[in-house]
Amino acid sequence: MVQESEFDRNGIGLHYGRVKQTDIDRLDDAIRDVPDFPKPGILFKDITPILSDGDLLRLTIDGIIEMAEGVQVDKVVGIDARGFIFGAAMADRLGIGFVPIRKKGKLPWDTIGMSYSLEYGEAEVEVHKDAVAPGEKVMLVDDLLATGGTASAALKLLGELGADIVCAAFVIELAFLEGRKVLGEEVRTEALLTY
Ligand code: AMP
Repeated sequence: MVQESEFDRNGIGLHYGRVKQTDIDRLDDAIRDVPDFPKPGILFKDITPILSDGDLLRLTIDGIIEMAEGVQVDKVVGIDARGFIFGAAMADRLGIGFVPIRKKGKLPWDTIGMSYSLEYGEAEVEVHKDAVAPGEKVMLVDDLLATGGTASAALKLLGELGADIVCAAFVIELAFLEGRKVLGEEVRTEALLTY
């Protein structure tokens, strides 16, 4: 049962119960493996069955928040596009702001950008120059950590803005791709489900 005092605005998960292993198993069962999408050889982890189930969506947000227990956060930063869903829900739960890191060409105002290699291609991400103030504590959220290229580019952008990066949290980590190493040891990296 969630306590009302659960969040001192931006202090995460102080009185929160642990996500149970049975709940992790439910999430694991719901995630759909789609072979050869978007390219041959990629086993795509489809999280849409989690999104369409109210209980599982809430469990996932609970889980991300619990993983970051103890950190102080001013803003949640989500990565285009599935990171927006989890990140915005989390920011709403914590009563703090949300910042989108978007694929190139989507943000309307002044941006800084960073190119990177993806598990299945090349891409560039951008953020608005004023999205984070120097010294603001931010938590990065995405659905999945694969090679770490996307999250690493996002962290570099946040670093350029002078953000204090307190945590990078993912629903899923493909540990065999060792993306965690790419993010570096100085970034607290958390994942709800590891494959
Ligand atoms: P990476 O930069 O290699 O860590 O890739 C992470 C980004 O690509 C995330 O935004 C994921 O949504 C997406 N992604 C990469 N590999 C997969 C996969 N096997 N299944 C689902 N999404 C993936």
